[in-house]
Amino acid sequence: MKLLLLAVAVLVLNAGAVSPFQHSVTGATPINATAPDTATSLDSGEGDVTPPQSDESAGTIWRVHTERKDIALTFDDGPYPFYTPLLLHVLERSRVPATFFIVGRSAQEFPELVTRIVESGDEVGNHTFNHYTLTGLDDAEIATQIQSDGAFLERFTGKPLTLFRPPHGRVNRHVVDIASELGYHTILWSAAANDVKDVPPDVIVSRIMNEAGPGGIILLHSGQYRTIEALPQIIDDLRAEGYTFVTMSKLLEDGDNPRPDIETPMLRKRKGRD
Ligand SMILES: [Zn+2]
Repeated sequence: MKLLLLAVAVLVLNAGAVSPFQHSVTGATPINATAPDTATSLDSGEGDVTPPQSDESAGTIWRVHTERKDIALTFDDGPYPFYTPLLLHVLERSRVPATFFIVGRSAQEFPELVTRIVESGDEVGNHTFNHYTLTGLDDAEIATQIQSDGAFLERFTGKPLTLFRPPHGRVNRHVVDIASELGYHTILWSAAANDVKDVPPDVIVSRIMNEAGPGGIILLHSGQYRTIEALPQIIDDLRAEGYTFVTMSKLLEDGDNPRPDIETPMLRKRKGRD
């Protein structure tokens, strides 16, 4: 599989994709085409387990209630040279739509990759501009992080974004309420593989398969070579179990409760004061 992916990578790169040699990812090891195993993810602490359900995460969506075996593949961070074109190639070859939660500063650095994601028919979500942990910021800073990413990405999508995933999945009521006021669903996940921590592809596959379920939201990361290696098997195994891949927005449409508990007590209180 690895050799195949490398062959595909060479094809993608030769086909005029963004050269990994023209750019470097902020804070990351320089990428080269022959040894791309090094992780470049921003989310070193994210993806261990399904997110805890608590008062702090009230109003977030971590799965959608539906009887259908629909499931959403979501990829956090980036876009990244090398990884994003390769990931798009695997998805296109399998005819699977996905949702990319994109970081504004990376989008600004590699706008042509955002264009490619949008042109592929995949969905784009907001992952903040700088990928700071939002629970450490004040309300104005939280709003700025979400708004500035949304404004930048809207140039590519041509319409306002409605999906937001907080960096590291870290939320509190301020984060959820501010995102809601800005028009966003806060999307967490129901299946994750801890794939930022150099996990072997077969482990990534088994972790995702163990947690997959109808209406599920799968969290993976864009900047991980092993995740891309695991992806064809994840797709095959889920399809064999009868799952259909849909974008995050489609999953919300399909669900019985597309806006579950979106009005948290704090939001109601704020509205009441207005
Ligand atoms: Zn992230």
